[in-house]
Formats: sequence, C-alpha cells, structure tokens
Amino acid sequence: MHVYKSPYPPEPLYEGSLVDLLLTSKFHKTHNSPVLTDAGTGETLTIRDHFNNVRSFTATLKNLGVTRGTVVALFALNNIYLPCAHHAILAAGGVVTPVNCAYTSQDLGEQLEIANAKFIIAQDGHWLKTAQETVSSNGSISSCKVLSFEQFVKDCLSNRDGETGLGDPLPLDKSARETVAYLCFSSGTTGKFKGVMTSHFNLANNVLQAIAADSVVFSPNAIYAGFLPQTHIYALNLHVYASIFLGAQLIVFPAFDFESFLKAVIRYRISHAHVVPPIMVLFAKSPLVDKYPEIKYSLRILYSGAAPLSQWLADAVTERLNSKVTVCQGYGLTETSPVTHMSRAERPADKVGSIGFLVPNIEARLLDPETGQEAPVGGPGELVVRGPNIMLGYLNNPTADADTFIGDGWMRTGDIARVEEGGYWYIVDRLKEMIKSKGFQVAPAELEALLLKHPHVTDAAVIGQWSEEEATEHPRAFVVLAPNGDASQIKEWVDSQVAKHKRLWAGLVVIDQIPKSPSGKILRRFLKERNDDTVVGV
Ligand code: AMP
Repeated sequence: MHVYKSPYPPEPLYEGSLVDLLLTSKFHKTHNSPVLTDAGTGETLTIRDHFNNVRSFTATLKNLGVTRGTVVALFALNNIYLPCAHHAILAAGGVVTPVNCAYTSQDLGEQLEIANAKFIIAQDGHWLKTAQETVSSNGSISSCKVLSFEQFVKDCLSNRDGETGLGDPLPLDKSARETVAYLCFSSGTTGKFKGVMTSHFNLANNVLQAIAADSVVFSPNAIYAGFLPQTHIYALNLHVYASIFLGAQLIVFPAFDFESFLKAVIRYRISHAHVVPPIMVLFAKSPLVDKYPEIKYSLRILYSGAAPLSQWLADAVTERLNSKVTVCQGYGLTETSPVTHMSRAERPADKVGSIGFLVPNIEARLLDPETGQEAPVGGPGELVVRGPNIMLGYLNNPTADADTFIGDGWMRTGDIARVEEGGYWYIVDRLKEMIKSKGFQVAPAELEALLLKHPHVTDAAVIGQWSEEEATEHPRAFVVLAPNGDASQIKEWVDSQVAKHKRLWAGLVVIDQIPKSPSGKILRRFLKERNDDTVVGV
C-alpha cells in the first residue's frame, strides 16, 4: 500500500472544544485588537467585545433551552455577530446546522428535518419569512422554534454584563473527538444532500493544520476579506474560526459585490482574500480592476478554493495585478472540515494550478476507480484521505458511510488526483456526481427527481457543464420526452422551483435515451462528452 505523507512535521493534536480553542489562543496577545469589522458601516468588534458577546449570547441560548446536543439552524447572511452565534451555540452545548441563504423553503425544510433542528435563527426579511412558512407548513418540523436573528442579537446585547470571558461554557460530556459541533450539508459522492457530522476535534484540528501549513496565508497580521458565505465549510473554517483564533481582522460583507469589495480593500487595507474561481475571472477581466489601482498597495494574497483554478487564470490575475499579489490554492471537502491540501505563498510560479501539499497530519492514497486497487505511484487515481479532520460520518445514513469510508479511517473524496515529484498535488477530474456551481454544491439526483415529476419528462439526467469563461460548472439537464411532450417550458419550470445556483444555467437537451450501465446507473461521462447538442434555454 502506497501512503503519501504530508511534507510537514506532525502537529500535536488538539483535544479540547472549539470554543476552548478560541479562548486559549496563543495569538491573542491583547484583547483590544479588532477582529470583526462591518465593511459597510465600519462597526468593529475587538476580541474582548466578541468574547463578551459570546458570553451573553450563550446565556440567552441556555435560557431558551439550548442544551447538550440541541441542533440550532443559522439562516443569515454574513454579519459581525454571526460568528458569535456559532460560538455561543457550541458553548451552550448545542450543534450548529448552517443553512445556505439561497435555499428555498423546500431545501430548508429538508435540512431542518434531517438535522432534527429545534431552533432556527433567521435573518429578518426574506429568510425569517421563509423559515416561518417552512416550519408552519411542515408537520414533522413544527416543534422547531423560529427566532429573528436581529431580535436575538438585540436581546443578547442588552444582557451583556461587561465582563470578559465566557463564564462557564458547558463542558463536553463526551470527548471532543466524539462530540458533533456542526451538521453542514453535502451530497457526498452520490445521491441527495446529507448531514455531515463534523466534531469539535475535526474542525479545531483543521484550523491548526491549515495555520501550520502556511504562516503567510494564515497570519495574525492579515486583514481578511470576509464575503464568502459563512454557511459553507470554507468560510466557516477560515472566517468563523481561523481568523478569530489568529486575532486577525476580518472585514465582513453580507454578500459578494466586486466593486464594494475593491473599495473596501482600499478603505480597510485588506491584505488577504479567500475567493472562488469565478471571482478570479473578475480579477482577470473586469474593467473595475483598473478603476481602483490602489488595491495593489495592500492586497497581497488571493487564496482560491472550493473548485478548480487553472494555471492560465492564476497567471492572468498575477499579470494583471503586476505580480503584487500571490495566488494560492486550497482544496478540501465539507467532509474534511475542509482543508486537506494547500499551496504555499512561496512556491514556483508554474505550480499555481496545483492544490499544493498535504497539510500536516493528513495521509493520502490514490486508488484505481475501476478496480479499487492501488493506482500507479503518482496517479492519477481517486484521492482517499485520512487524518484528524475527517468527519465522523453522515447523520443517520449508514449506506452513505459505507460508500464513503473504505476502512481504517480512509475516506473517499470522489475526486481524481495526481501528485508530482516534490509533493505538488493536482485535481484532474471529479468521479462523484456532485456539480460545483460558483462554489456551491448541486446534487444531480435532486434535479433529476424534480425533472421526473414534470408530466412531459419520462427520464432525466443532470451533469455539470464547464464554462471556461466563468471558471465554473453549471447544471445541464438531459431529458427523454413523453410522446408528444414539449421541451420548451421545462427549464423555466425547474428554475422557478430551485435555489439560484441549482438552476439549469447550462440549459436542457432532449435526448432519445439516457445512457445507463446494466445496473441502471446513469453514465454521466457519455453525456459530458457530447458536444453537438441543441441546447434549449441558453
Ligand atoms: P464542498 O464539500 O462543497 O467543499 O465541495 C468539495 C468538492 O469541491 C471537492 O470534492 C472537489 O470536487 C471540489 N473542490 C474543492 N476545492 C477544489 C480545488 N481547489 N480544485 C478542484 N476542485 C475542488
């Protein structure tokens, strides 16, 4: 068996809770440093403010009845009090299930039900209304209490007693290794969305693994841009935990808007931004970059993750920004908390298309996807990983666990990778069904189930169609029509019922037959290879 090891020395494993990790951070030399700043208003919280808020938020949650194991859903755009809500739910003994703010009522209902959420704290306006309607129309989640995020924050702040610290957070009743902290949702290698059980141990150690891998990318002196949604594991790890652990300043944006971001780079002297490849396209091509040349005075690191970043795109950005900015890449999955690979800020220029090295304490193998046997050394093969950041498993889903874990702690990623001499890893393909649309997951199984409900569709398959222009995949449907069926309205019908990132942005193709294996599995590769189709709706 060939096991690829991290080039870094092993990191000591952290056995405490996530809240303790933050409270005992060696990086917090003073509690007066700013950690969270609202990009729009400039309102800023210091480490002291934040911990005081966590203390009063925790007390409020305990009064509401949040206790060991209570699942609380957070359905809010980024704001400077959102990390506090995360930390307080854990300090009260609870489990957080973060909900994608683009979710429809249907998506939300499924997540609340699978996660068995007892509370949902939702941002005022669209999200609160969706939460109220979802809970009142679905009997199986009717006991879930809906709270307004804004009102909750107001109540908590009026409870503040001015002391520093957390008082007495609930000690974990089991070890940090066994205690679930997060239930994020992922489709994994196949099928619909599942609750990913991430323990305190998983996430805390992943924060430490990432920081140990590169002290330039993870620096207490960095000023980070925080526009990626904190409901996804990427920003959850980096912005709700790592940057606060480092005592660095995070400039918080409710959502991404390129011009607001560029202005904020200048206003706050932002040095580091975590991005996804479609944002790199803006850096490479948008005329706005020329309108704000001063960004080059402070911006130093663009760290791309969540989807493939090509060498040409990285080069185009570096060239446009006169080499003042270093482009780095990270790779990981919701199931790995997420980081397993990171490129270093200092590395040869021709290695930017690489996802970098295995982070400390991560081991990897490459398996032949056909046989499951060891692939030739260097690959390509399916990337299989093991380490302290690998999830506990999927919630109440032994079938998905059996499909994902191959024994002895090894977890399949569903991605095809290769590794070059020197330890540079590359993702070369995706074996699993999952589509990544602008960094967000789309489960083909979910769209296929919806398409099959349409009266004019007798069979359907959905794939991710790569757009070089936008550096992302988009969902494309292939449908077999019923006799006399009409394809013209199907795309609109689907798009009207799903979250924005799940829409059939790459259109719909009518086909005679969906290619399937003898066991009935859709052969998506054949669909991906088709290139002369007439596409409806693009
Ligand atoms: P998620 O669980 O939403 O973070 O999605 C994980 C998946 O995103 C991985 O299994 C990959 O398919 C993809 N992914 C994440 N980072 C990268 C990257 N740097 N390059 C290529 N694919 C990536």
